Amino acid sequence: MNHAAVPCGAVRRIDANEPFAFHCHRGVPCFTRCCHDLELGLTPYDVLRLRKATGLSSTEVLERFVIIEQDDDEPFPRLYLTMVDDGKASCVFLGPEGCSIYPDRPSSCRTYPLGRAVARSGDRCEEHFVLLQETHCQGFLEPLLNTPKGFLHAQDLAVYHTFNDLVAGITQHDHIRQGMNLTVRQQRAYLLALYDLDTFREKLSEGFIDFHSTPDAAVFDDDEALLSYALVWLDHELFACGSESRG
Ligand code: SF4
Ligand code: SF4
Repeated sequence: MNHAAVPCGAVRRIDANEPFAFHCHRGVPCFTRCCHDLELGLTPYDVLRLRKATGLSSTEVLERFVIIEQDDDEPFPRLYLTMVDDGKASCVFLGPEGCSIYPDRPSSCRTYPLGRAVARSGDRCEEHFVLLQETHCQGFLEPLLNTPKGFLHAQDLAVYHTFNDLVAGITQHDHIRQGMNLTVRQQRAYLLALYDLDTFREKLSEGFIDFHSTPDAAVFDDDEALLSYALVWLDHELFACGSESRG
């Protein structure tokens, strides 16, 4: 093999086209070992897909499967997938046959054992990858070679990355990096627009969302179109309206 050896439990940077050996499948002895005791952060697009997978409203998904935390030092709330109290802290979607929402599993489940970070500089985005080799993960003993680029493509991550990068445009906005604090009202707007899409759509159709850009019909029928519109609205709400008047 022409890939560099990775010590157990190691994290190392890896280039987008650098080969590594890894294959996760139902036959590995550690199957589903990685679906326990996780701090599994959820992006807005992850929640959109959870809504699709469960057939529930976004409000119900948030109530039943998501933990929302607001750290005083952080501008934005963080959302995590619930782990159940079964003595093993299993993921709420782990069933006897494995992941019960596999086609719609969150981006971090798809990305593992890679990590992806995007460095923004103005309009430019630069992708960086790390490879995480945990001792329990026997997928590294499989002979299949891949590269980060090929692996992420095979995991159907393109649409996740598109939306996650748009969200990063807000969470890593210059104003935020320069120390802008969000009011409680702005934090609620973030949760509403990006995570509780059904309520956002309802408020939009009832005329409670004030914005100069009139939504087209697709916004009312298509969740991805709605999330795109919500991102533009939120960007304006947080960074163009001025924070002094809010509380
Ligand atoms: S969502 Fe699915 S793949 Fe992700 S941790 Fe839960 S059971 Fe595992
Ligand atoms: S521990 Fe690794 S090989 Fe095992 S199921 Fe999880 S990702 Fe796959």
